[in-house]
Amino acid sequence: MSSDYIKSVLETVKKRNANEPEFLQAVTEVLESLDPVFEKNKKYENYKVLERLVEPERQIIFRVPWLDDKGVIQVNRGFRIQFNSAIGPYKGGIRLHPSVNISILKFLGFEQVLKNALTTLPMGGGKGGSDFDPKGKTDNEVMRFCQSFMTELSKHIGADTDVPAGDIGTGGREIGYMFGQYKRLRNEFVGVLTGKGLKWGGSLIRPEATGYGSVYFAEEMLKTKNDTMKGKICAVSGSGNVAQYTVEKINQLGGKAVSLSDSSGTIYDKDGITAEKLAFVMDLKEVRRGRIKEYAEKFKCEFIAGGKPWNIKCDCAFPSATQNEIDGKDAKMLLDNGCKLVSEGANMPSTPEAIEQYLAKKILYGPGKAANAGGVATSGLEMSQNSMRLAWTREEVDAKLHGIMIAIHTQCRNAMKEYNTPDNYVMGANIAGFVKVADTMIDHGCV
Ligand code: NDP
Repeated sequence: MSSDYIKSVLETVKKRNANEPEFLQAVTEVLESLDPVFEKNKKYENYKVLERLVEPERQIIFRVPWLDDKGVIQVNRGFRIQFNSAIGPYKGGIRLHPSVNISILKFLGFEQVLKNALTTLPMGGGKGGSDFDPKGKTDNEVMRFCQSFMTELSKHIGADTDVPAGDIGTGGREIGYMFGQYKRLRNEFVGVLTGKGLKWGGSLIRPEATGYGSVYFAEEMLKTKNDTMKGKICAVSGSGNVAQYTVEKINQLGGKAVSLSDSSGTIYDKDGITAEKLAFVMDLKEVRRGRIKEYAEKFKCEFIAGGKPWNIKCDCAFPSATQNEIDGKDAKMLLDNGCKLVSEGANMPSTPEAIEQYLAKKILYGPGKAANAGGVATSGLEMSQNSMRLAWTREEVDAKLHGIMIAIHTQCRNAMKEYNTPDNYVMGANIAGFVKVADTMIDHGCV
C-alpha cells in the first residue's frame, strides 16, 4: 500500500512517460518501496524530492552517421541521459544494442542514481548508448561508429561533469576507440571514461568488478544464514563481461557454475565451468566474437537452443545478461527446484512477478542496484587513480571492491532494520540509496 503522495507522483510519471514501459517498471518498484520513509519524514514530500528525482536533469539525443566497409553511410541514434548529479558527476555506462531506446536508458539511468549512492563514492547517475549493433561488424566499422558517437558526446561529458563506462556491447575495444577520439578532439588526457586499458589509465580489477562484486554480495547474504558459497551449484546467464567474472569468482569461492547463455541459447555443463573452460569462453566472446553454442560442441555438454538457464536445478542464480530475463514462470521454476539465492549481476533482470515470488518465499534476493554496484564502484576507484595519476595494485583494488560490497550490504541491512522490513533487500537498497540522494537534493535547494 503506497501513500496518496506516492500514488499521485506515480500517476504523473505514467502520464508523462506513457510509452516507456521499462522506465515505468523501475520507477514503480522504487517508489512503492519508499512508503515507510515518507511516513516517517514529511520533509521529502515538502521539498518535492520525488517529483524531481524521476525527471532527468538533461537528456541528449543525437545523430550518429558512420561509413560501413562498403563506403555506405549508416545512421544510428545516440543518447546520453544525465539523470542526477546531486552527489557527484554523472556516471553510468554506454549500451550498444539494437534494442536501445529512451525508455531503456531512462530506467538504467534512474537505477544508476540510487546504485551509485550505495557505493559510498561521490558519483551521480547517468546512462547512454545507441541502437548500433556491434555484432557482425568489423573492427573498422566499430571504430568509425565509436568515433562518430564520441564526436557529439564529447561536447557533453568531462572528467568532472559526466564519466561514461562500458555496458552491453561496450567493452575494452569500444572504450578505446571512444577515448582515442575524445583525446583527439579535446587535446586532453583525462579520466573521462572508465573501463580503459591498463596501459592508458585503466584500473586493475575493473573488468572483473561487476561479476566479482555480485558474488561478494551473494556471500554476504549467505553469511546472514551462517552459510557460504562453498559447494553451491550456480546457474549463470549471459556470457559477456559480467557473466564471465561471476563464474570466475564462484569458482574461487568454492561454488560450481553450471550454465552460461547468449541470445541464441544456454549451455548446461553439469561438471562445472572450470577455469580452463572459462578461458575458452573469454577467447570465444572477447576475441573470436562467436556464439556460446561452440562451448557445448567443444566440451560435449547440453545446449538448449533459444532457452534460458532458469529450469536448471541450482542453489543460487546469477542473472547476468539483460533486463526482464527472469519472468514469473522462470522464477517459479527456480524456486520449485530449490533455488535459495538470486544475486543480480544484470540490471533489472527480474520482472515484478518474479520479485514478488522471491519475497514471498523469503529467499536471499540481492537486487541489481546493490548486487552489481561493484562495477561502478570500481569505476569510481579508476577515477580516483586518474585524478591522483597513480595506479593501485590488483590486491589493493580487489580489497577496496570487497570492502565496498560489504559496506553496500551493511547499508541495506541497516535500512531493513530501521524500517522493519527484514529479509527485504529491495526495500533496504532503495531506501538507503534514496535517503542519501534526497537529503543532498534538499541541501542544494530548489535545483
Ligand atoms: P556484455 O555485452 O559483455 O554481455 C551481455 C551478455 O548478455 C551477452 O552474452 C549477450 O548475448 C546477453 N544478452 C544481451 N542482451 C540479451 C537479450 N536481449 N537476450 C538474451 N541475451 C542477451 O554486457 P555486460 O556483461 O557488460 O552486461 C550484462 C548485464 O550487466 C547488463 O544488464 C548490464 O547493464 C549489467 N551491468 C554491467 C556492468 C558492467 O560493468 N559491464 C555493471 C553493472 C551492470 P548476445 O551476445 O547474444 O547478445
